Amino acid sequence: MHAVASPQAVIRRKREGHALAAGELREFIAGIADGSLCDGQLGAFAMAVCLRGMDHDETVALTLAMRDSGRRLDWRAADLGGPVLDKHSTGGVGDCTSLLVAPMLAACGAFVPMLSGRGLGHTGGTLDKLGAIPGYRSAPKPDELVRVVRDTGLAIVGASADLAPADRRLYAVRDVTATVDAIPLITASILSKKLAAGVDALVMDVKSGNGASLPDHDSALALARELVAVANGAGLRTEALVTDMSQPLAPAAGNALELRIALACLRGEPVAPRLVAASIELCAVALRQGGLAADLDEARARARAALASGAAAERFARMVHALGGPADLFEATDRHLPPAPCSADLPATAGGWLAAIDTRALGEAVVDLGGGRRHGDDRIDTRVGLDAIVPVGSAIEAGQPLLRVHAADDAALSATLARLAPCFRIDERPPAGQPLVLARIDAKAAGA
Ligand code: URA
Repeated sequence: MHAVASPQAVIRRKREGHALAAGELREFIAGIADGSLCDGQLGAFAMAVCLRGMDHDETVALTLAMRDSGRRLDWRAADLGGPVLDKHSTGGVGDCTSLLVAPMLAACGAFVPMLSGRGLGHTGGTLDKLGAIPGYRSAPKPDELVRVVRDTGLAIVGASADLAPADRRLYAVRDVTATVDAIPLITASILSKKLAAGVDALVMDVKSGNGASLPDHDSALALARELVAVANGAGLRTEALVTDMSQPLAPAAGNALELRIALACLRGEPVAPRLVAASIELCAVALRQGGLAADLDEARARARAALASGAAAERFARMVHALGGPADLFEATDRHLPPAPCSADLPATAGGWLAAIDTRALGEAVVDLGGGRRHGDDRIDTRVGLDAIVPVGSAIEAGQPLLRVHAADDAALSATLARLAPCFRIDERPPAGQPLVLARIDAKAAGA
């Protein structure tokens, strides 16, 4: 008979570098979900995993145990008539691809129950961006979620508390014990929720560069491989793109400001070419995986057409209205998204070429302006942030604005302008270009 190991024994075995058995992990995760383990035990476990790592089999077992710690959605009964697809990003600055990719996928015949998160550290969160829309309900009841996905093709909402509840608890402990950035824990955290959400196929956007949660490229690649291997091993068709986060993806960072950019892109305005290019690529990978396009070229053409025709905008508008937001968000954007009270440009101190941006510092400045949280229950000011951010590689004249700061008051405005001045490096020569998609990891490349 299998003897149940005590939580202390499981933590000790991991601390000593042993591989944990699937049964041990199941018991431990069940203890997280039913509340029988205390936060100290969760923190010690997370730290042991951070320091000792986990092999692939352990990561699979951890992921499945966290998936099974709560309810699982089953879309078969909803009889949707198309594949259920999703996209997930590991997080960055000015990354509002979800606001484009979800409606683009829906416009191409997919159904997208996109369970999104709040901002984390210096990275923005899709739920906080949608929180700028007056009346938007990001926590619908389960039957409302199904209805909105069926009627509009998408719903971008928060994960309900009964979905992978062990992750919710473990994540909160990781956040305050310096144990967020461990590949097995990130993999299990992200995929347990995607597996519980019952999607047919997933595209992962793993960020690499100085604005990413894991800035170093080798770690980003390792995370992408592990995500793809574990997801496919658990039966979820998944590919990953490793994309550049060495500058903000959109020319804005901050909740309402990014939402405005996303609305402009959906309207077809050429305001954010890197954001649109990334969104098309992510959408194309998901469309091909979901069987809605035969190959990537056809998938890209469908994704572009969904934007250019206004079909994606129409899907987004319908979803917003179905979830309690205004019916005229596109037409009356200025009325629904009021600006912050104070704003000013940050001028370049010298001419030349914009060679580098300290992207993480920009994300942290947005948090300190009130656009993110330092503590879990902080209230967000959705109006504040940065926009008109000049992209790396641009020719710069002395005095030209590098970005515009939007703040709640003059003191925050001056402090932010002062701290952001050193975040832009201007050189005499143009920098070498950096591709947007740095690597593509499919199941074969991940060894799944
Ligand atoms: N997003 C998650 O959901 N979990 C992590 O651990 C990191 C990013």
